[in-house]
Amino acid sequence: MTRVLVISDIHANITALEAVLADAGNVDEVWCLGDIAGYGPDPNECIQRIRALPQPTCMMGNHDYAAIGDMALETFNIDAKKALLWQRNILTDSSKDFLHTFLQEPKVCGEVTLVHGSPRDPIWEYIMNTLVARINLDHFETPWCFVGHSHFQAVFKHHVETDEMSIEVPGVGKQYELNGRAILNPGSVGQPRDRDPRAAYAIFNPEAKIWEPRRVEYDIKSVQQRILDAGLPPRHAERLAGGW
Ligand code: ZN
Repeated sequence: MTRVLVISDIHANITALEAVLADAGNVDEVWCLGDIAGYGPDPNECIQRIRALPQPTCMMGNHDYAAIGDMALETFNIDAKKALLWQRNILTDSSKDFLHTFLQEPKVCGEVTLVHGSPRDPIWEYIMNTLVARINLDHFETPWCFVGHSHFQAVFKHHVETDEMSIEVPGVGKQYELNGRAILNPGSVGQPRDRDPRAAYAIFNPEAKIWEPRRVEYDIKSVQQRILDAGLPPRHAERLAGGW
């Protein structure tokens, strides 16, 4: 049975990433839905770690794009912008080379389409509600689409009878047997925003068609300390403890 590790929005938090990798155990493939860069203190460490994993497929996130691009950072808020400017300076050439390989268009892996934001706008659009989820259903052809970007662990299911989407926030230990079409978000490894500070990720089993959202605790204090030591905005440290 194939085990696929699905991760997103690591945001340069190596402590959360290591906790997720340890908790996930052996996996056959890794699908990373973007935003390894941005916010946190450890962008090079996270990039090297992902690069060394078995079969990583990496989608381009908006922060990855901004970290390597020469785009203006006006679309980002002031604190996000500060971290991006700092990361542009400390990213090694080798890290930048790897970020440049990230996919900007939706990637089809078997029955799943992978994007960072949404199939309609792969790098930038947030799928936060059922209406936007429904609109995006017409922008991919596989049964399922895995998205990141919102930092919310969520399951959007399509209901054929009403042609509407529902949203469910996974409870502890809940597994989903996928049958109808769905849009699934594994949540954020390095900066969860759903008021649960534990690192979020998912395990996907393509043969059994099972989606298993998971959470794992990690040493938040050590990351907060590195954020402050690096002179990054204290807000990025504070929010980790509250999951916002
Ligand atoms: Zn993000």
